[in-house]
Amino acid sequence: MLVSAKEMLNKAKAGKYAVGQFNINNLEWTKAVLLTAQENASPVILGVSEGAGKYMGGYKTIVGMVNGMLEELNITVPVALHLDHGSYEGAKKCIEAGFSSIMFDGSHYPIEENIEKTKELVAICNQKGLSLEAEVGSIGGEEDGVIGAGEVADPNECKMIADLGVTMLAAGIGNIHGKYPANWTGLNFDVLAKIQELTGTMPLVLHGGTGIPEDMIKKAISLGVSKINVNTECQLAFAAATRKYIEEGKDLQGKGFDPRKLLAPGFEAIKATVKEKMELFGSVNKA
Ligand SMILES: [Zn+2]
Repeated sequence: MLVSAKEMLNKAKAGKYAVGQFNINNLEWTKAVLLTAQENASPVILGVSEGAGKYMGGYKTIVGMVNGMLEELNITVPVALHLDHGSYEGAKKCIEAGFSSIMFDGSHYPIEENIEKTKELVAICNQKGLSLEAEVGSIGGEEDGVIGAGEVADPNECKMIADLGVTMLAAGIGNIHGKYPANWTGLNFDVLAKIQELTGTMPLVLHGGTGIPEDMIKKAISLGVSKINVNTECQLAFAAATRKYIEEGKDLQGKGFDPRKLLAPGFEAIKATVKEKMELFGSVNKA
């Protein structure tokens, strides 16, 4: 059964580790993440962007697929199904479809409007027992066409949003989505420390986990980051493994064209990436 991300993240914050959010794109992705979480006894959050939701045939399709896998694959670790960077309308659709966790990205609204809409969603999510992630200060890079300039959040605005009763808070601290440019200046730990000081026990979320050096990830966790989003890294691993299979001509040998064979190396590559992240984040054996 899907659970809210609240309990797993509060435990992570208290225990100084982080739970990974791994974005899913299809059945193989979902199965790879769920099996790896179970094998490593790790709590896990499945992330679904609005674009991926559309791609997979809609939110209800995803809820059906994930719930089916939890049962048929005997997944017993805590699993949250989370809307990633949801719009106000998308959030409402996912709540109705059966997601257990929602991110409302109101970072592009003026702070007053972000507060007003977040407040309304807090009330709905509380009533239904869902977790809610809010965002302050946009996160750099591009995610489904939402472009941010790599901003650094205002810690006081973070406190205002945290005080609305959200479950977790994403704040820009120089992190960006996608691959990091060569001239990236790194995470702003002074701002992160200030945000943590003002928001207390609130689990903080680090977006754009792909390509952040391991020592920075560990330092961010020590400063209150309890959820780290990983998306691009699994895509790169899947693509590289699939490319290798094709380039070696394996799809042309015997029944190598069978999708169950063709997609297997990519599936295994996602599993390896997820396991590596769970070990780095410290969530192994925390289920
Ligand atoms: Zn993000």
